[in-house]
Amino acid sequence: MNPLSNKDFTPVEELKNLQLEKLRRIIDYEYGRVPLFRRRCDERGVKPSDVGTLEDLAKFPFMVKTDLRDEYPMGLTAAPLGEIVRFHCSSGTTGKPICIPNTRGDIEVWADATARALAMFGVTSGDVLQVSYGYGLFTGGLGLHYGGELMGCAVLPTSAGNTEKQLMLMRDLGTTAIACTPSYFLYVIDVAKKLGIDFRRDTRLRHGIFGAEPWTDEMRAKIEDSTGITAHDIYGLTEISGPGVAASCPYCERSCPGLHIFEDHYYPEIIDPKTLEPLPDGEEGELVFTTLDRFGTPMIRYRTRDLTRLHTGRCECGRTMRVMDRIRNRSDDMLIVHGVNLFPSQVETALLSVPEVEPHYQIILTPTENLDLLEIKVEIRGEAFSDNIRALEELRKKVFYAVKQIIGLSPKITLVEPGSLPRSEGKIRRVIDNRR
Ligand code: ADP
Ligand code: ZN
Repeated sequence: MNPLSNKDFTPVEELKNLQLEKLRRIIDYEYGRVPLFRRRCDERGVKPSDVGTLEDLAKFPFMVKTDLRDEYPMGLTAAPLGEIVRFHCSSGTTGKPICIPNTRGDIEVWADATARALAMFGVTSGDVLQVSYGYGLFTGGLGLHYGGELMGCAVLPTSAGNTEKQLMLMRDLGTTAIACTPSYFLYVIDVAKKLGIDFRRDTRLRHGIFGAEPWTDEMRAKIEDSTGITAHDIYGLTEISGPGVAASCPYCERSCPGLHIFEDHYYPEIIDPKTLEPLPDGEEGELVFTTLDRFGTPMIRYRTRDLTRLHTGRCECGRTMRVMDRIRNRSDDMLIVHGVNLFPSQVETALLSVPEVEPHYQIILTPTENLDLLEIKVEIRGEAFSDNIRALEELRKKVFYAVKQIIGLSPKITLVEPGSLPRSEGKIRRVIDNRR
C-alpha cells in the first residue's frame, strides 16, 4: 500500500479526536480574522470556546456562495497576502466569479488529498498521468497536477483541448491514466475513432479519472465498454480546494456506489436544505463542508448545494473515511418545465438506452404564448445515420418514448447529424434556457 494512504485507515475514534482538535483550531482562527464570520457568530451568541464536541459545529452559522460573491474578491480571506501563494476562481454561471486565495499549506493539503485519491484508484508512481483538465483559474488541472507529482507519477500536463495532439502524446509517452471531465473524454473517444485509434490496441490507458460535473452510471458503462479502461469518480469544488475532496475506491464505486470523503481535511455534514437542521448518516440532504486544514480561505459549514447521503460502517477496502453517494445532479442544473423537475442526467440516462444515438444532446427551452417549448436535440450515431425518412422518423419516436418514460414530459425530439452538437473541453453546458 502507498504510505500516502495510511491516513485513510485512521481508527474512527482517533479520527474524531483529530477532527475535533482541528475544528476548534479553525473556528478560533476564522473568528479572529474574518469579520463576517465573527459578526454572524456574535449575532447568534456563539463563541469559539463553545466547541466541546463535533456536534457543536451545528451551532455555528453557514456560509454560502453568495457570501463569496458579496465579499469578492478577498473579504473572506483569513491569511495576509504575504502568505497567499495562489488564487483560484470558479466561473460562476452568473455575475462575478468567486475568488479563493490559497496558502502554501492549503496547496499541500490539497495535493495530499488528491494523491490519496489517486492511490485509491490504484494509480502508482509507475503511472504516466495525462492531466487533460484545464489549467488556470479552474482547479481541475493544477489540482490533479500537484496530486500526481506528490504520488510520483510522470505527469503530462496537456491541459484540455488540441485533442489530436493529446492522442499522439498519449500513445508516444504511454499514458496509463487520464484525468479530465467525462464530457471531454467522450469527445476524446470520438476523435480517436475518427483517427482509427483503438484504445485497447493502440494505447496503454487503464484509468480514467473523471469529475467536475455529474455523470451517470450508464455513461461510466459506455466509457468502460468502448475503451477498456476503469472509470473512477473524483469530486471537489473550488471553495473547498478543488478535485480530491472525495474519491471512489474499487469497492465503494461498484457496490454503493459512492466516494470516500477525505474527512481528516474536509469535515462533512448533511443538512435538510429547508429546515437547515443536520440530518443523521443515511439520510439524503445537502452536503456541507468545514475545511479543517485550510488557512487562506477557510470555509465553515459551507453549503455546497450538492445533494447526497453519508454512509457509516466499514467499506470493504478497510478505509474509515465516510462514503457519500455519487453526486448525480448539480442543484444549479435543475430545470422546472411545466411544473416538473428535470435534470439533464435523466436525459443522458434515456439516450444511453438507445443504441442508435450518441449521449451528445442539447436541451433548449423556449417561451411560447402557451406552454414553454422543450426541445431536445440528439445526435445520431454515424452507423445509424441514413437519408431514409421513415427510418429516421422511427428512430425519433424511439428516442421520444425513451426520454418521455424517464422525464415524464413530452419533449420535441430533433435528430441531428453525427458530430454537429458542440463539444466541450471542460465542463459541458447542455442547457439553453431562453426563458431567463
Ligand atoms: P463551478 O461552480 O464554476 O462549476 P467548481 O469547479 O468549483 O466550479 O464546481 C464544483 C461543483 O461541480 C460541485 O459542487 C459539484 O456540483 C460538481 N462536481 C464536481 N465534481 C463532481 C463529481 N465527481 N460528480 C458530480 N458533480 C461534481
Ligand atoms: Zn472503500
